[in-house]
Amino acid sequence: THFGFKEVPEEQKETLVGSVFSSVASSYDVMNDAMSLGIHRIWKDSFVSSMLPKLSPSLHQDPNQAQKQQFKCLDVAGGTGDIALRILDRAREKFGSRDIQVEIVDLNQGMLDEGRKRVAKTLYYNTPQITFTHGNAQALPSHIADNSIDLYTIAFGIRNCTSLPAVLSEAYRVLKPGGKIGVLEFGKVSNPLFKEIYRQYSFQFIPIMGKILAGDSESYQYLVESIERFPTQPEFAQLMRDAGFQTGQLREGKGGAWTDYTNGIATAWTGVKA
Ligand code: SAM
Repeated sequence: THFGFKEVPEEQKETLVGSVFSSVASSYDVMNDAMSLGIHRIWKDSFVSSMLPKLSPSLHQDPNQAQKQQFKCLDVAGGTGDIALRILDRAREKFGSRDIQVEIVDLNQGMLDEGRKRVAKTLYYNTPQITFTHGNAQALPSHIADNSIDLYTIAFGIRNCTSLPAVLSEAYRVLKPGGKIGVLEFGKVSNPLFKEIYRQYSFQFIPIMGKILAGDSESYQYLVESIERFPTQPEFAQLMRDAGFQTGQLREGKGGAWTDYTNGIATAWTGVKA
């Protein structure tokens, strides 16, 4: 069997994605570190700081007694909570705020279970600050109302979705006017030499590592192929605009619609609901 989406009918894609992440859920965090040599942590830190540039301090440090209006985040395809925990840590450590909540939505129960185990070891355990919901990015669970979210994030999850426009229009729907979206995903590497090295690394090294560390090379083969098929940086920025988001100009960097990390291995696209 072969996990290439090209050969997979659309209706089977979600089942396939489900089985890929079930088979990698328990080894997921270790694999991320191994495959990216730990660099995914830096990308995620930078992404979260850029999405949460400031927040006012809360009066109560006990989130159960928080009285101020809550800053509501939705971390879609949130998996084991990497982004959600960074958001909460930044809010608390940098701004002294615990008036912020993150709801993680993920299609895979195995990933949500790993996430819950992880949160149980943090000070957010059993607080209203973090919740887990089983659901699909393309049709968000119905309790998430229109115009209710301040910040929507999706990190390394959107490329697994069947319809990018469906994900983006759902994000647009649930965001408040003025609310922000941040999409962190593998981008396209710009430097030709670096691109070739990265290609060799992904197609040869990553599936082998997947086999050794997780006993599963096919899931990792699939991950590499899904990266190749994802739109280029300007193409994805255009999709965000088509969904109604205001973005920076169609270029990289300050004032642009996206920021490349490590020469475009990862890219953060941002937009605002008008
Ligand atoms: N955001 C986490 C991170 O950055 O470490 C997890 C990323 S993981 C590579 C991709 C996640 O997307 C998996 O947990 C998978 O279950 C989830 N996923 C895939 N398709 C989805 C969909 N249509 N809706 C919601 N989650 C989805």
